[in-house]
Amino acid sequence: LALAVGLTKSTVSLLVRELLAEGWLIEHEVVATGELGRRPTPLFIDPSRLLLLGAEVGVAEIRVVATTLTGVVLARKDLSFGAAMSLTGCVASLSAAVQELHQELAGDDRRILGMGVGLPGGVDEASGVLRFSPNLGWHDVPFGALLAEQLRGTPLAGVPLYVQNEADVAALGELEFTVARQADPLLYLSINQGVGAGVIVGERLLTGARGFAGEVGHMVLEWAGPRCTCGRQGCAEALISPRAMLGDSGPLPGPASGSPVGELLRRLDAGDAATAKAVNKAGKYLGVLLQNLATAYDPACIVVGGSCLQLGDALLQPALETLRTYAAAAQLEPPVVQISSFGADAVAVGAAALARYRLTRPLIAPGAQHNNLPKGT
Ligand SMILES: [Zn+2]
Repeated sequence: LALAVGLTKSTVSLLVRELLAEGWLIEHEVVATGELGRRPTPLFIDPSRLLLLGAEVGVAEIRVVATTLTGVVLARKDLSFGAAMSLTGCVASLSAAVQELHQELAGDDRRILGMGVGLPGGVDEASGVLRFSPNLGWHDVPFGALLAEQLRGTPLAGVPLYVQNEADVAALGELEFTVARQADPLLYLSINQGVGAGVIVGERLLTGARGFAGEVGHMVLEWAGPRCTCGRQGCAEALISPRAMLGDSGPLPGPASGSPVGELLRRLDAGDAATAKAVNKAGKYLGVLLQNLATAYDPACIVVGGSCLQLGDALLQPALETLRTYAAAAQLEPPVVQISSFGADAVAVGAAALARYRLTRPLIAPGAQHNNLPKGT
């Protein structure tokens, strides 16, 4: 450790003692190897004493998870709403759900270290304000402050709370909680009713000047294409989302008849040729979007996730084929594309990762002095 972080051995043992006391680390028994000299004590991240809470706010549902410091899900809660989730209803339900999880899991020996929320829209993380969510129809909502207010007077009051865009937190989930994904730059493409990306470069989340970086669902792929929820025409989202795939072949199903992705799956299973064609076309546009992202960022890996992944090869095969065709034409290797390791939990687990990420790498306000180490160390 001393070698890796460039501090003296005595400073390292002092800091380690602090981290052991706070519940971040745990010591394991030294295994006798027969070698001479003082053997180093193996240290591990403690999976039991400090917990994280993560929440995904979707368009019509909320998922909340409690995880260990290493991202293992210990408990989860799912809440479904009608097609129109009100802001007050959302904040109240979310607050109740995290308190339930806290009651279930926290005890004398366990405490909640931090809490994160992933929202479907552009978020200014420093102020906790959701700038714009086309799919929820919310503008300039101080989500962080509203949730903190709702939690006032509860055992979770004062627990560090972070909010960020859903694709951004899912990208952080891959960064923080998977060993295999030390890829850099790392892109996470989230394909739900909305389409967005989280971009991580040099272990830093790219947020943009207003929090809109990675809103790639509104990259225009087709001039004078179909109208998007954002008001523009021909956005990726208007060509790839379930709404685009369902097309005009019927009314968009409400929650009573299942999710739009569920309806697409039902139609694919029934052998509906028009749906198969529409999903294939959306897959090709997904390939175009992936190609554009690869061109913009030269990523080491693009992770894809979101509810549309339930469509499986029907959507992914044409996307990957399109990517391979572009790569072959330019005599390049196609970019590496992988499916998220957390499945339907990707955003909720990612929101828990956001808390760990910000607690260990604090957000530096624009213009503030850049310090590598927190004050006092
Ligand atoms: Zn758009």
